Amino acid sequence: MLNFDAHLPEMLAMLKTLVETESPSHDKAAVDRVGALVAQECRRLGATVELVPNAETGDHVIARWNPVPAGEKRGEIVLMHHMDTVFPLGTLARMPFHTQAEKTFGPGVLDMKGGIVITLTAIAALHQAGELTRPITALFTSDEEIGSGTSRALIERLARQSDLVLVMESGLVDSSLKTWRKGVGEFVVRVRGRAAHAGGEHEKGRNAIRELAHQVLEIEKLTDYACGTTVNVGVIHGGTVTNVVPELAIAEGDIRILVAEEAGRIRAALQSLRPAFPDTSVEVTVDFNRPPMPFGEKNQAAFARAQQIAATLGEELKAGGSGGGSDANFVAPLGVPVLDGFGTIGADYHSEREWIYTASLASRAQLTAALLRNW
Ligand SMILES: [Zn+2]
Repeated sequence: MLNFDAHLPEMLAMLKTLVETESPSHDKAAVDRVGALVAQECRRLGATVELVPNAETGDHVIARWNPVPAGEKRGEIVLMHHMDTVFPLGTLARMPFHTQAEKTFGPGVLDMKGGIVITLTAIAALHQAGELTRPITALFTSDEEIGSGTSRALIERLARQSDLVLVMESGLVDSSLKTWRKGVGEFVVRVRGRAAHAGGEHEKGRNAIRELAHQVLEIEKLTDYACGTTVNVGVIHGGTVTNVVPELAIAEGDIRILVAEEAGRIRAALQSLRPAFPDTSVEVTVDFNRPPMPFGEKNQAAFARAQQIAATLGEELKAGGSGGGSDANFVAPLGVPVLDGFGTIGADYHSEREWIYTASLASRAQLTAALLRNW
């Protein structure tokens, strides 16, 4: 196998270009600029590139090597990436791309422009060695950080046709893969009471904040650590000024589940919340965005095989998981083996301290190339 350490300078140069092309999810033109760079590089490596037009966010990019006719299964591996980041345009000025000691910093180095560089480098190595023989599809989407609304169907369609999906999101800081991920939901609780003068007619008021406080305590009881469920009230707002009995109070929260059935329990519990005090109303909306990705049988088998391939490189691959969702969550319910966390290794993602171990670019490219060749 090629020595990927020798490729590190080129990998860093490519990562610098991608990071310095800032791409917040909501800025179509910005994400399209990354899409153009990625498409150009894939074409240079012999891929057939398809741009999937998207009016809301950036166009999605699909690159195919040795494509399989639609509807057939022939050992195809799909690699998934997103090109958008959580960082607004201009972040780069405060958070410039730079390498310091063993780490590299910059908006999106970890989540997940490093993963894009790893795939393109692994494929380039196979291409150069004449070993790019299996069907490979690389998908680069534009809206993962805002829920993958326009890419979900595409993700599911490509996954269904494949034998294995590799999600090139970052690994855990100890280099473990993300073999399970929690499902993610959101909820909003709106409480309405009755406004009144806090001095003159206090007794006529129905305090929405008091009612909401009661509801928050009920909601917090739904957390069940033993089965991996958390329900978190993350935002509350209500009232207007101190001398008015508040008419409106709102709570917003986040739900994480590891067991698919928990979605039903939490939904039912939230929707059955009833006012504790007279003359108030409680209205709840619940929305599950990503289903959970448990470490089920198929993923365990895929992980064991990836472990064997890693062992041939002298690397011990470890299994870990994450409470955060990714596009792997959409693949898991389809019954297609999916391994996540093949991207760079680092931490502090979604913060201005986001960093990667620079050397992980090379080690993960080597692992990915080995997987694509030997799977
Ligand atoms: Zn990501």
